[in-house]
Amino acid sequence: MGTTARISRNVALTGLIAAAAFTAAGLFYGDPRFVGLFEFRNSTVPDGQAADQRPGSAAEAVGTDAPPPGFEEAERPLGTAEVPPSPSDSFKFLATNDDGTPVGYSPCRPLHYVVNAGLAPAGAENLVEDAIGTIARATGIRFINDGATTEAPSEDRDPYQPETYGERWAPLLISWTTPEAAPKLKGQVIGTGGSTHYSFDGGPKTFVTGSLDLDAPQLAGELERPQGSQYATAVILHELSHVMGLEHVDDPLQLMYPEIGTPDGLAAGDLNGLYQLGRTACRKDL
Ligand SMILES: [Zn+2]
Repeated sequence: MGTTARISRNVALTGLIAAAAFTAAGLFYGDPRFVGLFEFRNSTVPDGQAADQRPGSAAEAVGTDAPPPGFEEAERPLGTAEVPPSPSDSFKFLATNDDGTPVGYSPCRPLHYVVNAGLAPAGAENLVEDAIGTIARATGIRFINDGATTEAPSEDRDPYQPETYGERWAPLLISWTTPEAAPKLKGQVIGTGGSTHYSFDGGPKTFVTGSLDLDAPQLAGELERPQGSQYATAVILHELSHVMGLEHVDDPLQLMYPEIGTPDGLAAGDLNGLYQLGRTACRKDL
């Protein structure tokens, strides 16, 4: 074989909500970590220490089957992002290339996703759809809902599953699940999210698929509180922003701050970061 495919995945963990407090204590997120696709590194996040932690270095695992390149890849970006209403540099990327450009998804092809909603709380059906719409507007990335799946969350999910999804990269998997099925959700962690990037021989990286796990029982509890749907939406948007390639920031005004004080959604820094993530290179070769 000629080129060696190198693949690695980063997984963003989010911690949670002080369950004991009736006051608006806010959401606590854990920290994004980089893990190898085939060798999951320990990435348990101590509760309440998220803000001071930084991701580890990227781990890479060599060799994976890949689909024929260029599936649905167009000549130019499919969508146009909304220009952020105000400038801000209060954002960080989870991964960058050697030239400093952020690692994101190709804007020239749609990003398919499937939802395992078997455990979704009542009334939560639209939260994911609404959050996807928000991220689509912020990035210009075109999302396509491929519908329901029974695929279970997995820490070493195969990015190419032709038997299940055909000869293309597997779609983004969004799962309403439990700590039993997704052990990284244990304790106060409410969700995990991240994407797999792919490159040839150290060349530029691009995300090809991702996964997002939501702790259905915890979110069901949150949804019973006042403003519960706003908090749940904030969690989903925060996780989707990790999936798209945003890292935490130390600025408490941003949704990518590790703690949410008020569920106000994406702020200026978040929006400027997502805008850039929607303008990464197209990848006919992937
Ligand atoms: Zn986070």
